Amino acid sequence: MLVVMQQGATEEQIDAVIERLTELGFDVHRSTGVVHTVLGGVGGKEEFDLDVFELMEGVKEAHRISSPYKLASRSFRPGGTVVKIRDVDIGAERVVVMAGPCSVESRDQIERSAEIVAAGGARVLRGGAFQPSNAPYAFRGLGEEGLELLREAASRRGLLVASEVTDQTQIALVAQYADILQVGARNMQNFTLLRELGRQRMPVLLKRGISATIEELLLSAEFIMSGGNYDVILCERGIRTFETYTRYTMDISAIPVVQKLSHLPIVADPSHGTGRRDKVVPMARAAVAAGADGLLVEVHPDPDRALSDGAQSLRPEQFQEMMRQLRLIAPAVERSI
Ligand code: PEP
Ligand code: MN
Repeated sequence: MLVVMQQGATEEQIDAVIERLTELGFDVHRSTGVVHTVLGGVGGKEEFDLDVFELMEGVKEAHRISSPYKLASRSFRPGGTVVKIRDVDIGAERVVVMAGPCSVESRDQIERSAEIVAAGGARVLRGGAFQPSNAPYAFRGLGEEGLELLREAASRRGLLVASEVTDQTQIALVAQYADILQVGARNMQNFTLLRELGRQRMPVLLKRGISATIEELLLSAEFIMSGGNYDVILCERGIRTFETYTRYTMDISAIPVVQKLSHLPIVADPSHGTGRRDKVVPMARAAVAAGADGLLVEVHPDPDRALSDGAQSLRPEQFQEMMRQLRLIAPAVERSI
C-alpha cells in the first residue's frame, strides 16, 4: 500500500494518514521526497477501500502495490535513493568505485592496496576480514586484526571501508571499523542476518545470490528495509549459468532492470562476475555504460600471491588503466567518476 501526498501537504495531513494506516494494521514507512512525501504501508489488512485514503486531505493518490516488495520498489521513492556516507554519495551522478583485495592478508598488503586504490581515484577500500568460501580449507580471513589494518590503511588516505559480515554475530565488530557492511552472495537469503542488518543504521551492500532472481534480490533488500534501514546498495556480481569459461555470468542487464523496478542504487562487481582478470576491465566498462552507480573491483599489489581470488584481481597498472578508461566512458552516459 502506498499513499502519495500532494506537494505541500502539511505535517498534520501526513500524520492523519499515518494514523489511519496504523489503525488498519499497517507498519508505516515514510519517504520524504523533494516534491512528494510517500507513505508505504506494509503488512496491513487486505480488504479496505482505497477511497478511504484518496479522499483524505492532502492526499494525491493511493495505490495497492502488487509486487511482493514495497519499500524497495521504485514507486516508494520515484526520484531514486542516494546513500550518503560522509562525503561520498552512492546513487548520485558520480560513479563510486570500491576497490581493494578480496581479503586483508597483512599490513603491507593492505597498505599497498590502499595506495593503488587511492591513486586511481576510488573512494572506498574493500577487503574481507571474514571470508566466505565454497571450500572449507580456504583462507578465512584475519578477523579483527584484518579490520584494524583495513581501517588504518583507508583512513590514512581518506577512503571509506567496505567489509563483509558472514554472520549476525559479527555485525557489532565489523561496524566498529567499516562504513559499509557487505552481505556476500552466499548470504543473500540468510534472513536472520538480513533482519539484524535491518536494525542497524548503517549502509549495507547486498550482493545478488549466485542463483537468485532479481525479484529475490529485491525481496532480500526489503527484509533489511522493513526493519527501518533504508540504506541498501545492491550489487550484481554474476550468476550461475551453463557457461563455464567465466567463473559466473555477469548479468549486465540486471543494472537497467533493477533501476526500473527499484529506487536503490546498484553497483556491479566484474571481478566475481567473470573470475578472470583479463575480463574484468571490459565488464567494468560495460557496467558503467549500462548505468551502474558504482563498481566493486578486486585489485591486489601482487595477485599471483593473493590468498584468495588472485586470478580475478587486477594488477596495479590494470586498475589505473581501468580508471582512465572509465573516466572517458562515464560522460557518455552523463556521469562522472
Ligand atoms: C567478495 O566480495 O570477496 C565475495 C566473497 O563476493 P561474493 O559474495 O559475491 O562471492
Ligand atoms: Mn573475492
